[in-house]
Amino acid sequence: MGGAWIERAPPRPMRRNRAFPHLLAVAAACLAAVLLLIAGRQPSGAGEPYDCRAARVVVVSASRADAIDACAGARAAIGFFRSLGLESRRPISIEVLARMPESLGASGAGAFIESERRVMVLSYERFKANGTWFRIRIDRRLYRSVATHEVAHAIASEHFRVAVPTIEAKEYIAYVATFSTMDESQRSQVLAAFPGEGFDDACRMSTTIYLFDPMRFGVEAYRHYLKPGNGNPFLRAVLAGTVLAEP
Ligand SMILES: [Zn+2]
Repeated sequence: MGGAWIERAPPRPMRRNRAFPHLLAVAAACLAAVLLLIAGRQPSGAGEPYDCRAARVVVVSASRADAIDACAGARAAIGFFRSLGLESRRPISIEVLARMPESLGASGAGAFIESERRVMVLSYERFKANGTWFRIRIDRRLYRSVATHEVAHAIASEHFRVAVPTIEAKEYIAYVATFSTMDESQRSQVLAAFPGEGFDDACRMSTTIYLFDPMRFGVEAYRHYLKPGNGNPFLRAVLAGTVLAEP
């Protein structure tokens, strides 16, 4: 699915005449959330923030089930980086949307806008309408991996030691986090659906190769990560900018 993952320029600024009502809506939602928290209830419902607990992640979703899955996906990403000794120190907001903004490409399942530290994912209902993802049938377990992928982008952005990481560097890390935390049986299905030997070395991973087939890039990057001598040391090298950086 071309354009499955989208990391592009921030969307165009909201038109001025819409900004004020939007801010009012946000303020009202925040107030509602505070009141519900005071009342000891977990907020849920249209547009209300859902606190992921144990993680500095807040999800805004019309569906409580979607918010719970987004939190689970986010926690998986946080746990993956924690296993590397890398903590997520900055808050992350996730928005569950019925459709992706046109400016980000309507076909994407998720996006991370680095300048705003915002993650967006499709609603499960809308995502499921695609039928398959990575050539396997979509269910809620797979849906969580969408959030994992985008939150992995968010956490990785805190730990890159290069000013402008390459697309292949960002995607390598996000896909490794995605597949490392994916349900084992689903991961096996994905690997079977994308036969390959994995990238031989860093030279084989380029922006062009990624854009040509983002999903295949992801699976082959994960296989590269699994090869002896790669693994977490390679991942750290990507973050350090000593591999997969601009020549
Ligand atoms: Zn990505």
